[in-house]
Amino acid sequence: MQRIFVLSLQRTPLCPCRPARARWLLTQRKAAVFRRYPFTIILKQPPSGTGAAPLRVKIDPGSKTTGMAVLNDATGEVVWAAELSHRGQQVKEALDSRRATRRSRRQRHTRYRQPRFDNRTRPTGWLPPSLVSRVQNVLTWVERVQRCAPITDLSFELVRFDMQLIERPAITGIEYQQGTLAGWEAREYLLLKWGYRCAYCRKEATRWEVDHIIPRSREGSNRIKNLALSCHDCNQDKGNRTAAEYGHPDVQIEAGKPLKDAAAVNSTRWALYERLQQTGLPIETGTGGRTRWNRTQRGLPKTHWLDAACVGASTPASLDARGVIPLAIQAMGRHSRRMCRTNAFGFPDKRPKQASVVGGVRTGDIVRAVVPPPSVKAGTYVGRLAIRARGSCNIQMAAGTIQGIHYRYCPPLHRGDGYTYQNGRSA
Ligand SMILES: [Zn+2]
Repeated sequence: MQRIFVLSLQRTPLCPCRPARARWLLTQRKAAVFRRYPFTIILKQPPSGTGAAPLRVKIDPGSKTTGMAVLNDATGEVVWAAELSHRGQQVKEALDSRRATRRSRRQRHTRYRQPRFDNRTRPTGWLPPSLVSRVQNVLTWVERVQRCAPITDLSFELVRFDMQLIERPAITGIEYQQGTLAGWEAREYLLLKWGYRCAYCRKEATRWEVDHIIPRSREGSNRIKNLALSCHDCNQDKGNRTAAEYGHPDVQIEAGKPLKDAAAVNSTRWALYERLQQTGLPIETGTGGRTRWNRTQRGLPKTHWLDAACVGASTPASLDARGVIPLAIQAMGRHSRRMCRTNAFGFPDKRPKQASVVGGVRTGDIVRAVVPPPSVKAGTYVGRLAIRARGSCNIQMAAGTIQGIHYRYCPPLHRGDGYTYQNGRSA
């Protein structure tokens, strides 16, 4: 069951409580709302219970969306979950557009500083800004969760597959029918190796089959070098022939080339792993193959947050994710830093950017606006504020955007923190 984070009077994280108890504490005025996202209450009296049960935060990093889950290992209960959407693509587009604008200004011989060319050293460990943004989003959220829950461990999906497990001689006879962990690691390897395409027709299929390049019936081995990813049609068509006999000697050669272990780790995950070590929490690393295996074994559907809950060998035998509604977190950035606002051709055509704080609120604040009846816009609106210097603002809600709400109707529920939120669907 979904739980609510609880802080003591001294702001130390306590054992998260059930929503019903949180509601009771709030109505009895024994607690107050401390933060909306993630929803956290703070007790007004010393807690009655004993020490908090240790919790584990689990992360499944992705390029667009990262899944997060907080688990109680002892009970197998998912306490909290979130799906964090990154803005890597927007960061890249913003930098591309800045580069294009500067370049076109230079080309037109507009007054501008000379291009620099001899100051292009990159420090070791440099990452592109779009990846830095992803890394920092995850770190921010691990730290935020640490501040409101008694986190003692961390699980992180670092690599796609475990090469040692695939190549261990003892498991040469592994079953590829999705049965064993080694089978899943091998599938993950093959997906990466063949780029999610059929080795023969190069089509992207939805259902994969593992094809023996030299068929089993002709003494072909179960070793990974004898396996290729194939669609159902090609696998049936090839039948009892080898890849060379089927007209694809290239597949046989390609399969022999080893896929480096490094291919399973990408630079973002590795950078994230190094930064996560600075949290001081013991980190358990997992593989993509194991995540899928864990999730399939427990009969859970594929979502980012359930994938996160299934990361690593420590995953409890039964996971209780009933009633958990993942918090949809979207990275929004903290307003624009552009001092000169241009049109699509790089010409300044708008006023310079206006004051970011108007009437004590700013863009990104989550507000609850109650507009009284005489107004045509009378009603209650909860959403993300977009501030306008003239005072009449926009509120973005799940249902759409309402314009022209004055800031005096907009007391903030949650101050802008670079993210916007929505409660997603439950499992
Ligand atoms: Zn095919």
